[in-house]
Amino acid sequence: MKSNLRNAPRFHRLLHSWARSNLREYPWRREQDRFWLLLSKMMLRRTRADQVVPIYEHVAKRYPTAEELATASAEELRALLYPLGLEWRADNIVSMVREVVERYNGEVPGTKDEMMSLPGVGDYVASAVACFAKGEPTPIIDTNVVRVLGRLFGLRLDGEARRRKEMRDAATMCLDQRQPRLYSYALLDFAALVCAASAPRCGECPFGQQGLCEYAQQKKHFP
Ligand code: SF4
Repeated sequence: MKSNLRNAPRFHRLLHSWARSNLREYPWRREQDRFWLLLSKMMLRRTRADQVVPIYEHVAKRYPTAEELATASAEELRALLYPLGLEWRADNIVSMVREVVERYNGEVPGTKDEMMSLPGVGDYVASAVACFAKGEPTPIIDTNVVRVLGRLFGLRLDGEARRRKEMRDAATMCLDQRQPRLYSYALLDFAALVCAASAPRCGECPFGQQGLCEYAQQKKHFP
């Protein structure tokens, strides 16, 4: 792994300092209930967060518990989720909600393995729910996080990057064990707002400004 950024506390200081004035507000971020976190994660899949907000709020108001949501017909839920696209997503959510109610009395199970036995729930979503609900220190590695870490550390960014050991090692090394929730929200927002896919804003980036990013050094974004 290249990069001058081998010091995790320094990484956390810079990221948290950026997050203090830039962290975004979403209704699910006020939530620590696994069911609502899981539902929001499934809604957010391949969809922009601002599109999800009104639909998430509408669903939460109309069906305030998992049991009530399970009474909605599949057609009703499909119609509610229609603006988000991806028809299979509505089917996965219907199956997940019913299973949570029938098998787990309306409570999403606490372990990642059990969560991953629910329809439509993979490793990424289960890790995110474990982290955001319970503050479990587990790295959340999605394509955005892969892009930021890959650029910072000069790791190969291709279709396999997410599965490579060096990427998982970087994600584990960077994780803030003391504040995993805040850290993970900060990293996701940093990826969306600063280290964007097509046009990273290296001039405003604390890592770039301090000469700590391999990508910025190589592209000569900084002296
Ligand atoms: S310097 Fe540029 S590429 Fe590096 S982390 Fe910051 S925004 Fe991303």
